[in-house]
Order: sequence, then structure tokens, then C-alpha cells
Amino acid sequence: MPISGENMAREPEQIQREVLEKYAENFPSIYLDVVRHADLSTISWAPLMYRHPWRIIFGNLNKGNITVAGDAMHPMTPELGQGGGSSLEDAVVLGRHIGNSIIKNGGQFVEGDMAKAIDDYVKERRWRAALLVTGSYLSGWMQHGGAKWWERFIRDRLFFKYIFGFLAGLAHYNCGNLPAVSSSGKED
Ligand SMILES: Cc1cc2nc3c(=O)[nH]c(=O)nc-3n(C[C@H](O)[C@H](O)[C@H](O)COP(=O)(O)OP(=O)(O)OC[C@H]3O[C@@H](n4cnc5c(N)ncnc54)[C@H](O)[C@@H]3O)c2cc1C
Repeated sequence: MPISGENMAREPEQIQREVLEKYAENFPSIYLDVVRHADLSTISWAPLMYRHPWRIIFGNLNKGNITVAGDAMHPMTPELGQGGGSSLEDAVVLGRHIGNSIIKNGGQFVEGDMAKAIDDYVKERRWRAALLVTGSYLSGWMQHGGAKWWERFIRDRLFFKYIFGFLAGLAHYNCGNLPAVSSSGKED
């Protein structure tokens, strides 16, 4: 049963009980032991966040020198395990654009040029982030799909055979090199 914001338990004891009795009752006992012995003060849950890919491609992600990165830019479902990876990619790409702007301007922060650098960062990240969000969602949709024969056929014979390998391969990505400067401020 999907857990939505409305039907989520709030109290740690209740969350623990629901996990053990409703959502994970068929899990291996070693897993259930971890849940059973968990420190109640550490238990909470929150709905999975997701942003529609078209909102990443066409939405406003920057204004002047301000922008977003990581989950704030592209929250995604967890099936490809790329939320954190893509946040680190953002950091490298943003660092590259900011660094190049500062180097180009002789070590100075020049407002108009920085706004352009940030705009270039957003342009570079939009499609990649939208692809990961879409791939993660599609992957989750398939994995959590039903057990009817045609659903199993699509999942096991088509999706995992022909599509999942491509999606899993999206984890490999070259963010480009960060610019390097010497301690004197000159570009290396
Ligand atoms: C259970 C789980 C498993 C995951 N597994 C993987 C995985 O295997 N691989 C993977 O790539 N990703 C994984 N992720 C996703 C990954 O953790 C996130 O995508 C990643 O942490 C996002 O990084 P972020 O810096 O954008 O946001 P966050 O890590 O959420 O960092 C945001 C920070 O901002 C702080 N903050 C919020 N509001 C304010 C404020 N007003 N002022 C100051 N600070 C503030 C928060 O406290 C937080 O420290 C997983 C996530 C979860 C929950």
C-alpha cells in the first residue's frame, strides 16, 4: 500500500509498529531486528519528493547570482540512487562555472559575469537532472508495478532486459575539470 502524507503515522512507536506489521512483515528477520531495536528517538518518515522533469527543464532555477542545487533543484525518487550523486555533480559543475568566471576576471567577483556563469550552470544541469528524475521515477514505477502477467512481462522481459541497464549507466558522468589556481591567484 502506498504511504501518502495523509496516512503516514506520526509517533515513532506507531511508525515502528506499522513498519513491522504492515510494510516489512515479509522482510528477512535480520532486518526486522534492526527495526525492533532501533532507538525510537531516531525514527521518523517523510514522503518521497519528486519534481516533474518539465518543471526542471522549463522552470526558473536561477535569478541573478542566486540558484539552487541538489534536492532543492531536482528531488527524485530513490530507485537509481542518484539523488546524492547528482547533487555532487551540481557542486562540481557550479564550482567550475564560478571558478572560471573569477579566473577570467582576474580573481574578482564581477556581478554580471557571475550571473551569466550561474545561468550557464543551470543550462548545463537542466537536461541531465530531468533525465535522472525521469529515469528514477520510471524505474520505481516498474519495480513497484503489479503482478498481472502483462505487468510482469513488461517489467521482467522488457524493462529489466532492455532499459534498466541504460538507466543504471546514467550514474557514470563526467562533470568536467575544476579550474585550478596557484596560491598567487594565477591559473595553473
Ligand atoms: C534513506 C535515503 C537513502 C538515500 N540513498 C542514496 C544513495 O544511495 N545514493 C544517492 O546518491 N543518494 C541517496 N539519497 C539521496 C541523498 O541523500 C540526497 O539526494 C542528498 O542528500 C541531497 O543533498 P542536498 O545537499 O541537496 O540536500 P541535503 O542533504 O538535504 O542537505 C540540505 C541541508 O540544508 C540544511 N537546511 C535546510 N534548511 C535550512 C535552513 N533554512 N538554513 C540552513 N540550513 C538548512 C539541512 O539541515 C541539510 O543539512 C538517499 C536519501 C535518503 C533519505
